[in-house]
Amino acid sequence: MTANGTRVLVLNSGSSSVKYQLLDMADGARLAAGLVERIGEQTSRLVHTPLATGGDKREQEAPIADHSAALQAVAAELAADGLGLDSPELAAIGHRVVHGGKQFTEPTLITDEVLAEIERLIPVAPLHNPANLTGIRTAMALRPDLPQVAVFDTAFHTTMPEHAARYAIDVATADAYRVRRYGFHGTSHAYVSRKTAELLGKDPSEVNVIVLHLGNGASATAVAGGRCVDTSMGLTPLEGLVMGTRSGDLDPAVIFHLARNASMSIDEIDSLLNKKSGLIGLCGDNDMREIRRRIDEGDERAKLAFDIYVHRLKKYIGAYYAVLGRVDAVAFTAGVGENAAPVREAAIAGLEELGLAVDAGLNAEHSGSARLVSPAGSRVAVAVVPTDEELEIATQVYALVTA
Ligand code: ADP
Repeated sequence: MTANGTRVLVLNSGSSSVKYQLLDMADGARLAAGLVERIGEQTSRLVHTPLATGGDKREQEAPIADHSAALQAVAAELAADGLGLDSPELAAIGHRVVHGGKQFTEPTLITDEVLAEIERLIPVAPLHNPANLTGIRTAMALRPDLPQVAVFDTAFHTTMPEHAARYAIDVATADAYRVRRYGFHGTSHAYVSRKTAELLGKDPSEVNVIVLHLGNGASATAVAGGRCVDTSMGLTPLEGLVMGTRSGDLDPAVIFHLARNASMSIDEIDSLLNKKSGLIGLCGDNDMREIRRRIDEGDERAKLAFDIYVHRLKKYIGAYYAVLGRVDAVAFTAGVGENAAPVREAAIAGLEELGLAVDAGLNAEHSGSARLVSPAGSRVAVAVVPTDEELEIATQVYALVTA
């Protein structure tokens, strides 16, 4: 495929929001970034940051009826900066797609068949894939001639061996309903594991890394020589670590118990575990800054929520250490992983026998750059690596359209 321009627009379409970034892949520069939120409501808002010109952030508050109107508003903002979607400099539009099932192992040029396949995956991603599809269709209507590429959150995890991807349930039922572990945040895990290898001065094929993506959603991945061999999220992003509002791992019988004894419907339990559990369920706050502030004031509930969060994290570090056999680095990323020094310190505490330690001084430093926080000469590096999903999506899209 030949692309004329070097710019890539990255779109992340949610059910009521669209996040976007325009990047120039000639030098990786970010030209513009923004967000449209509360689409379909009276209180819609568009925030646009014209990074190329260094101009001020622009905000609009006016009803935006649907994704099509949202994208048109974004296109108008970009055009006002001389970066319109009709520019010959635009090489492609890259779309973040949450669920690519087993079949989408790489960034994929969007065709009618690809759209149909993303649609077939809706039963396993009922919240995300419909919104992603709407974003894609809207962008295709706006620029039908331009390559549009899907980058799947699940793709990095498709290298998981069958013994890690399958649940121990009846095989025929699992296969009929596509019940297996897919994993998410793959774009971030791919980027961060590669950056960690770079930080160690090695090729990704030479290093084994445990990546801890701790944002509002959170997941851990075991990466062996650049390939994912296990990850903590499963059929949906509910499994695994304790998250901002999701429970992560629990005995599946909790669901039967609540249905039978609390007369809760499946939808109510779904909402309980996805939206009212995790940190917010445990202590009423899901922002780690607020939780730390409360702990500093002696709040016991916040302390217990923090301890449960860290205990789960430690269990996954141990489990993935065993899965990998040899670990070169543990990398922390996303909002909590990049910023919350106490989480890193507590998760690594007591793991000296595994070669893991955190240097208190290095760990307390604030920096936006990838860095080591383990003492010099540690057997296993502990790293903080800021994630950049938009850059990773744009890089993958540009590689595909210029191949
Ligand atoms: P997502 O992309 O999943 O919405 P982010 O990766 O942006 O989330 O992470 C958001 C979370 O990061 C917040 O809910 C908060 O808990 C945490 N966070 C952000 N900044 C800090 C900070 N300075 N200290 C501690 N936690 C932070």
